[in-house]
Amino acid sequence: MHGSVVNLHSILNRIDVAAREAGQQAGKTRLVAVTKTFGADEILPVLETGQRIFGENRVQEAQSKWPGLRQRFPDIELHLIGPLQSNKTAEAVALFDVIETVDREKIASALAAEMRKQARHPTLLVQVNTGDEPQKAGISPKDAVAFVETCRTRHGLEISGLMCIPPADENPGPHFALLAKLAAQAGLDILSMGMSGDFEIATALGATHVRVGSAIFGTR
Ligand SMILES: *Cc1c(COP(=O)(O)O)cnc(C)c1O
Repeated sequence: MHGSVVNLHSILNRIDVAAREAGQQAGKTRLVAVTKTFGADEILPVLETGQRIFGENRVQEAQSKWPGLRQRFPDIELHLIGPLQSNKTAEAVALFDVIETVDREKIASALAAEMRKQARHPTLLVQVNTGDEPQKAGISPKDAVAFVETCRTRHGLEISGLMCIPPADENPGPHFALLAKLAAQAGLDILSMGMSGDFEIATALGATHVRVGSAIFGTR
């Protein structure tokens, strides 16, 4: 079996165990396999074993590999997990099923216009900068609930959940717990949190989606 397929099954199993041990509902946490920097040859074995949810962090890179793969596997669910520039919103709306990184009004407004124009409605998540790190994308936790409301009322955008990337040098648990609390306050169901190093903690804290790259495909 291909190494990435072995890794994938091991991660799916670890998600199940973490959910069970934490008393989370079985099957609540979905795996987003993060394929940035990896080509179709490396992605294919994972597709062939049944994985269907994938994440990419750059619009252009995703455009170069996913339309071809999607012809063969039409039921793929593709997530944008990297920052979105307003000049890329047309491409993003056309390609992605879930856009996880809405974090400012300029993007909300550009997405709303583009979604009307294309009559396509990707699921939208707001990225929260839970550590208030200056170099990191995402809205500050103190503004997150109000921003979700602004997206709804001012831009007519339905927001379905929240996403975060905790500071690299901190215990991620409190950041995941904060994200879950904000989602509950805003009445949102989807929680995208946890990566290769901490997806079990995120699962235990109620993640609906964990985004795992290197633990499946190897180091980039
Ligand atoms: C690359 C990336 C991941 C996956 O990271 P790994 O540590 O390789 O699992 C998850 N989320 C985002 C936003 C990423 O850019």
